[in-house]
Amino acid sequence: MEKIKTLILGGGPAGFTAAIYAARANLSPVLYEGLQPGGQLTTTTVVENFPGFPEGVDANTLMDNMRAQARHFGADIRQGVATAVDLGVRPFRITIDNETQLEADALIIATGAQARYLGLPSEEKFKGSGVSACATCDGFFYRKRTVAVVGGGDTACEEALYLASLAKKVYMIVRRDVFRASRIMQEKVLSAPNIEVLWNCNTQEVLGDAMGVTGARLLRKDGTVFDIAIDGFFLAIGHTPSSALFKPWLKLDENGYILTEGKSAETCVPGVFAAGDVQDPRYRQAVTAAASGCMAARDAEKYLLEQVNA
Ligand code: NDP
Repeated sequence: MEKIKTLILGGGPAGFTAAIYAARANLSPVLYEGLQPGGQLTTTTVVENFPGFPEGVDANTLMDNMRAQARHFGADIRQGVATAVDLGVRPFRITIDNETQLEADALIIATGAQARYLGLPSEEKFKGSGVSACATCDGFFYRKRTVAVVGGGDTACEEALYLASLAKKVYMIVRRDVFRASRIMQEKVLSAPNIEVLWNCNTQEVLGDAMGVTGARLLRKDGTVFDIAIDGFFLAIGHTPSSALFKPWLKLDENGYILTEGKSAETCVPGVFAAGDVQDPRYRQAVTAAASGCMAARDAEKYLLEQVNA
């Protein structure tokens, strides 16, 4: 069985940054990229808020560069998905793609999260050309235009407010007659002059043409079907962290995010660290994920050193 000093799961900004730091600290990192090489960021086009790129940077280029930088320092980047783990033994045991068995002294989990979508074929068709699950990534493209945000939670309110600062008009499509969001966020949304809440509405179809999204067909609870004209359709109906595999071993919050200790990447199992969106329900930015990947590698370095000296 292959024995790995530092195993990193996940090929997004958190995983690659952890790999860069771990490689430079001689921790011989092996990184498995998982189901979505490059991570969630690759579902967007241009990243304009990652520091260091005044003109913006293509999301895939940014991730290719992070991967190349990790390789440059000696990280071993591989394709594969962790399908089983045993964190109750030392070294930890990890199975990749149901067949490859590995042992690891330290484990960094950077498996990310997935934005939830409604599951409509028309939504899938316009992903990347008007359908987005990240207002901070893509909102800028909708300056002075009309957009819709689906959802009634804190994220939806936050995204609607952000978009309202750029767009001409923002519709919020809320499936009940109440928000789920905190009172303060509700008040902010309701007092924004260019946000209109469409209560009791579900989306039947995202409408569009060869250029992208042009509207949405909504069904109100009273049975009325109507169309709204929009240029962008933003989903904010929650995220699902990719943490199910670790549930028997780690402490997760009620939404499945891995809990870390204080201002560190440490989980409740010594030697297991979590970084990026799998442990972050709040910020979910490439730059914050990258920063937490750095933290995880530094914490792993300290842990491995203590093991040697113990
Ligand atoms: P939430 O689960 O809180 O809200 C999801 C929203 O999407 C709800 O309004 C829900 O409706 C709606 N929804 C879910 N599925 C569908 C669907 N299929 N069709 C239409 N609408 C749907 O997720 P959030 O991402 O908003 O928040 C996650 C957590 O993060 C929360 O605890 C939140 O408080 C926190 N957060 C905190 C922030 C802050 O403090 N600044 C910022 C952002 C998030 P319904 O209510 O009917 O279920």
